[in-house]
Amino acid sequence: MTDDFEVVIGLEIHVQLDTETKMFCSCSTDYEDSEPNTHTCPVCLGLPGSLPVVNERAVEYAVRVGKALECSICDETRFHRKNYYYPDLPKNFQISQYDAPINEDGRLVVSVEGEDHEIGITRAHMEEDPGALTHKGGSIERSKYTLVDYNRSGTPLLEIVTEPDIRSPEEARAVVETLREILEYLGVYDSGRSGALRVDANISISQDGTEGNRTEVKNIGSTKGVVRALRYEVTRQKNRLKRGGEVVQETRHYDDDRGVTVTLREKEEEKDYRYFEEADIPVLRTTEFKDDVHVPELPRERRARFEDEYGVSDEVAEKLTSRKSVADFYEEVAARVDASLAATWTADELLGELNYRDLDVTAVDAQEFAALVELVAEDELTDANAVEALRAALDDDEGRTPVDVVDERDLRKADDDVTVEATREAVEENPDAVQDYLGGDDEAINYLVGQVMQKTGGSADPAVVNDVLRDEIAQKQEG
Ligand code: ZN
Ligand code: MN
Repeated sequence: MTDDFEVVIGLEIHVQLDTETKMFCSCSTDYEDSEPNTHTCPVCLGLPGSLPVVNERAVEYAVRVGKALECSICDETRFHRKNYYYPDLPKNFQISQYDAPINEDGRLVVSVEGEDHEIGITRAHMEEDPGALTHKGGSIERSKYTLVDYNRSGTPLLEIVTEPDIRSPEEARAVVETLREILEYLGVYDSGRSGALRVDANISISQDGTEGNRTEVKNIGSTKGVVRALRYEVTRQKNRLKRGGEVVQETRHYDDDRGVTVTLREKEEEKDYRYFEEADIPVLRTTEFKDDVHVPELPRERRARFEDEYGVSDEVAEKLTSRKSVADFYEEVAARVDASLAATWTADELLGELNYRDLDVTAVDAQEFAALVELVAEDELTDANAVEALRAALDDDEGRTPVDVVDERDLRKADDDVTVEATREAVEENPDAVQDYLGGDDEAINYLVGQVMQKTGGSADPAVVNDVLRDEIAQKQEG
């Protein structure tokens, strides 16, 4: 036996499409802060005799995603009933798609450690979300009873299925992240909504070219969860194979609190679902409208354009484009001030400060931020004081802008007179440091610069202070 293992991963990613109403009825999808079971009607409760009507916007969104993933869009797409019993699904079947999904045969390019990998997209089909179960008293095994809320029932889902082209948990993370970026750019997905993206991961290990049994880990709710669950499965399956055992083909549940996967049930097969055509929904012809569905500039293209147009590095372009809101913000700032200065201030300073405060870029006005960067560009403000003003404005409850803070705290660069005066004082007061400097200790000058910065309340320009100090000491020497 050798250690020649290959990890084989395929993902099924369920995405809630950000429509106003549900997939087959006119109930509002805006239920997050509502009482349970208040966004329901006979259709999404699955009452006998109710008839589903397809949400046109959901179909448009599905086509938009299909185009962005370079899928072929089915001319005549059909819905099927996927039969299974579970309390979150009162009809006893889920309306889904089977042999004529709306999107097929696409591709997604992801970058892993600077290298591009192409992942095949098998299909991206439409279906409905079931209701939500809450197991009271902790985990599914230990709970005393379960509550069911049908508000989510019937929310439009797009299930994006990849080919088993993924070779590591980290690559799986890249797939989910890249997809999330694209969906956000397409405007079909609300990243702020909990449970809007859920992943089922199929994973097996090939050994010496022989494929092992597959397990499916269900319902992973976060990117971090995807990586943890898959790493756990890789180790578990490899250990089993190394000991000469076999991996059982089954469905497993990912326990996020413990970071482990546990057996849920034997894996269902397709025949268990007894798929048959949904006779209440006619065949949907997409030929009429699919040409009118347009895909906007996607993250990869925008990244390349930022590198070209603004001359920013890969790394900075990536930071600036991974969220559409940040990219839009940056372009507004770059329209007003030097593009590379705008890039540094947005990607390094602003995003860092926002991250630290768990804030979104929408918390900042691009024009107000540009006004601050403009002061730096015009040499009226030191970097340190610009950061101070930015921080104060972010923490301010009364809506002060960064430039308001600059004015209030008098943070603009000191006049040269003030700098020179402070330098003279620093030289007078610190003869030891001056001696050290003259003795060849160049570090001593940094200490003196620090003294001047303190005297001027940070408003002096450190580069200027450095020059003035050296002049001042040289003059003293001669005099
Ligand atoms: Zn409804
Ligand atoms: Mn599904």
